[in-house]
Amino acid sequence: MPIRLILIGPPGVGKGTQAALIEERLGVRTLSSGVIFRAEIEAETDLGQLAKSYIDRGELVPNGVTIQMMLKRIRSDEARKKGFVLDGFPRTIRQAEALELELNQAEMPIQRVISLEVSEDVLIRRLSGRLGCTKCGALYHRTNKPPKRDGLCDVCNSPLFVRADDQPDTIRQRLVVFNEQTSPLVEFYEERGMLRHVDATHEAEEVYREIIEGLS
Ligand SMILES: [Zn+2]
Repeated sequence: MPIRLILIGPPGVGKGTQAALIEERLGVRTLSSGVIFRAEIEAETDLGQLAKSYIDRGELVPNGVTIQMMLKRIRSDEARKKGFVLDGFPRTIRQAEALELELNQAEMPIQRVISLEVSEDVLIRRLSGRLGCTKCGALYHRTNKPPKRDGLCDVCNSPLFVRADDQPDTIRQRLVVFNEQTSPLVEFYEERGMLRHVDATHEAEEVYREIIEGLS
């Protein structure tokens, strides 16, 4: 049976890891709004060019454009047959309503909305350990993937730095924005009995097991 899931969670919560496990083990593709945006822009489709015109002006891509891009993927044969995991969509109530309407009409409702949750402290510890290479862009982590020589890139020997996005204050700010954006969505799916909270502090395998258990 196809799996139809929505993953919600702040940056650094491990959404990418879970999406990769689901794809590898169950053959269910992740539809990530960021990846899809970039693909549409690179392919210079009508929607991609429209989205780019907003991004270039530093504006948010309007709901209507985002919805069309995502629904195009959801309507594909593969998504219909095998299902999908949504990442980064829906982000607003309007998007959630459009998605619900489309999926109800197609008789392929979402089974579960998984909210991956960790405390702010854990998130800061995870994200603030990230190091990037100034020259080649290679990524490291102080505890999970340390470079062989302290502060230097294994690949090209250039100095490593902490990205501005990964400074503790910036992380806190990103988290505030994330919570403001998603709390209406969490409520939306909670009202429909579709939401499952998963503690993402645990090991990736345990988190995966909890996500899968929630599907039955
Ligand atoms: Zn490097």
